[in-house]
Amino acid sequence: MKEIGHWIDGKMVAGTSGRFAEVMNPATGEVRAKVALATKAELDAAVAAAERAQPGWAATNPQRRARVMMKFADLINTHMDELAELVSVEHGKVLADGRGDVQRGLEVIEVCMGAPAMLKGEYTDGAGPGIDIYAMRQPLGVVAGITPFNFPAMIPLWKMGPALSAGNAMVLKPSERCPSTALRLAELAKEAGLPDGVLQVVNGDKDAVDAILDNETIQAVGFVGSTPIAQYIYGRACANGKRAQCFGGAKNHMLIMPDADMDKAADALVGAGYGAAGERCMAISVAVPVGKGTAEALISRLIPKIEKLKVGPYTGGADVDFGPVITAQARDRIEGLIASGVEQGAQLLIDGRGLTIQGYENGFYTGPSLFDHVTPEMEIYKQEIFGPVLSVVRAESYEEALKLVMDNDYGNGTAIFTADGDTARDFASRVNVGMVGINFPIPVPLSYYSFGGWKKSAFGDLNQYGPDAFRFYTKTKTVTARWFSGIKDGVALNFKALD
Ligand code: NAD
Repeated sequence: MKEIGHWIDGKMVAGTSGRFAEVMNPATGEVRAKVALATKAELDAAVAAAERAQPGWAATNPQRRARVMMKFADLINTHMDELAELVSVEHGKVLADGRGDVQRGLEVIEVCMGAPAMLKGEYTDGAGPGIDIYAMRQPLGVVAGITPFNFPAMIPLWKMGPALSAGNAMVLKPSERCPSTALRLAELAKEAGLPDGVLQVVNGDKDAVDAILDNETIQAVGFVGSTPIAQYIYGRACANGKRAQCFGGAKNHMLIMPDADMDKAADALVGAGYGAAGERCMAISVAVPVGKGTAEALISRLIPKIEKLKVGPYTGGADVDFGPVITAQARDRIEGLIASGVEQGAQLLIDGRGLTIQGYENGFYTGPSLFDHVTPEMEIYKQEIFGPVLSVVRAESYEEALKLVMDNDYGNGTAIFTADGDTARDFASRVNVGMVGINFPIPVPLSYYSFGGWKKSAFGDLNQYGPDAFRFYTKTKTVTARWFSGIKDGVALNFKALD
């Protein structure tokens, strides 16, 4: 059995705790490796080594650090297929999606090549007589990233890029379900010129996370995962005096107005609802058609498109649309929620439960499911299903549809499909959600903007990547300098009393 350890001081090291978690291949249901789960002592040692490495890295001028990012981006591109395969084998997503996972992380590294511009300070010349004020951005020191299973490349890169290019050292704790991609990225970062110790990848579970939260050297925690854990980590990190930005779960709604292009709306829903088996925090899990005619027109288009979807292993070729979910437990939970939807009175138009794929009978597959007549009281509406299940909640009017989104606990992403600019503008302006798509179903901002939800989808006050990330990973020092009259006034040759 392959054993996955940690990346410490520029090399792979074995874990010493004696505790392991199984790393699965969800497509086959086989255990592909076991990953070491770090103890507090291992975590603390990794942090201490990062603390020793950080001052030298911070003293490396920003442009030289940016050059490491350039080389890193180059290496990620060169190893794109290998990284995508690592993502797919541990996550289960199809290879095209595995590539997308790496690509959307790579784009953040590309922006980090411009870190020197992001790190520029502010200056006021002549704030008073002989007085100038300047503010500089300095790295925090050692920071931590804690990431989820569903984007094994993208989210570690979202964390590493801004933190490292700003001059910090980072201890990254990736998901124990998909640890290999982050370790490979760490190797590539070293090859790109990142000094040993500046990036440590420590594998683990709650023990390692709690050790991060209680470690006094760690200055900031960037977390991405489910809402209950995000809230827990935010609370404990803040109580320990750390900066924290913790991104949580989602229940993303898409409004379909009567004037929308129905074919395009249906295509968008199929892609955003079922892509990556619905295991995206920006997946659309609730479709809200406005008006009965809109609902009928939409559903009649959705059904044949969904029925055509092909589910299979990532090795199954380009016509496989999506793969298995992450674990057998995740599949059972999703199928249990589908059963609860039926019991609570929703109409199950397409039932994806009980899917087996020939030759992959032990894989964690569940087919696409579609519900109509879902109401906000049902469990399938209240919970983040995180699987290939789309719920249609019918609304009579635009205001009723908008209220549904506004009243939802989550506020990660939302979308509206309409041909009317006035409605779209009103929606974008009033909705209490962090990322909004107009005729665009998954509005993940490009890497020179920043990503973050509202309400229970994020705890903390700055978004991840883009300009906000550079604010998060640096602290501001403001200097007020006064220079008294000096030698520029000339040398005094005349003999005079001192005043
Ligand atoms: P998760 O919350 O189970 O795990 C995330 C991380 O927290 C992992 O590294 C895990 O080891 C750690 N963790 C798990 N349980 C813990 C505990 N009790 N104490 C301390 N640490 C713990 O999330 P997941 O299942 O890996 O990922 C899926 C979730 O992430 C979904 O809810 C999804 O919406 C969310 N997500 C959010 C975003 C975003 O940017 N808002 C992006 C991707 C995923």
